Amino acid sequence: MAEPLILDHPTALDDLEIASLAASFERRSPQDVLRWAIDRFGSRLALATSFQADGMALLDMAHRIDPGVRVLTVDSGRLRQETYDFIDQIREHYAIPIEVYSPQATDLEAFVGEHGPNPFYRSLELRVRCCEIRKVSPLTRALSGLDAWISGQRRDHTASRQGIRVVERDDLHGGIVKLNPLAAWTDEQVWAYLRAHDVPHNPLYDHGFTSIGCAPCTRPTAPGDDPRAGRWWWEQHTTKECGIHCRVDWSALRA
Ligand code: SF4
Repeated sequence: MAEPLILDHPTALDDLEIASLAASFERRSPQDVLRWAIDRFGSRLALATSFQADGMALLDMAHRIDPGVRVLTVDSGRLRQETYDFIDQIREHYAIPIEVYSPQATDLEAFVGEHGPNPFYRSLELRVRCCEIRKVSPLTRALSGLDAWISGQRRDHTASRQGIRVVERDDLHGGIVKLNPLAAWTDEQVWAYLRAHDVPHNPLYDHGFTSIGCAPCTRPTAPGDDPRAGRWWWEQHTTKECGIHCRVDWSALRA
């Protein structure tokens, strides 16, 4: 069992606490989980969101509990204009600052200089490296000063997310606490919350998008498609993950 990082993360939890909380929070509402987390971690907690429907439900819930809750996002540099406009809209709607983390310029310049602006279509290796530079590394930097973060992951998103707990130790990010308050929710519950509380949504949902990411790697889906079918749609038999929530082992999929 790994040691908790008490010195680096003053409010860190040990594995026993995490397991106990995960079991008890399974029967609690997302708002209960958020209320506990905000109280426990204070400014060493942030909601990380790309402002999709799940993230907007959580942002609205958290903002009602504490308008000062930290909200951060990663700007890959390749988002759709509608998403940039939506981020501005949310900033004004809630009158909150949004912490924006961008790729490191030197890494991006080297990668684009060697492989061009759209290398993701050529191989899974290049796609994962692009996600690493544009999304994973900025988020890792964002989380490095935190003890806990809130994610909009749900178990029904993908097969790789079926086993997520409401509270987890995030070993991809230094062992800090990761909260998935919507782990057990469905798409219907998320949209019912947005409608009931008049929460804004990204207008791309009104144009057939069911999952929204970078412009070159996301497209609308058809009725009946898997909701994440529009993400990296040219890839077959991959996890449809960018690496933020789990490692993407491209080497095992090259053949
Ligand atoms: Fe690059 Fe596409 Fe990943 Fe965005 S989703 S970081 S453009 S590979």
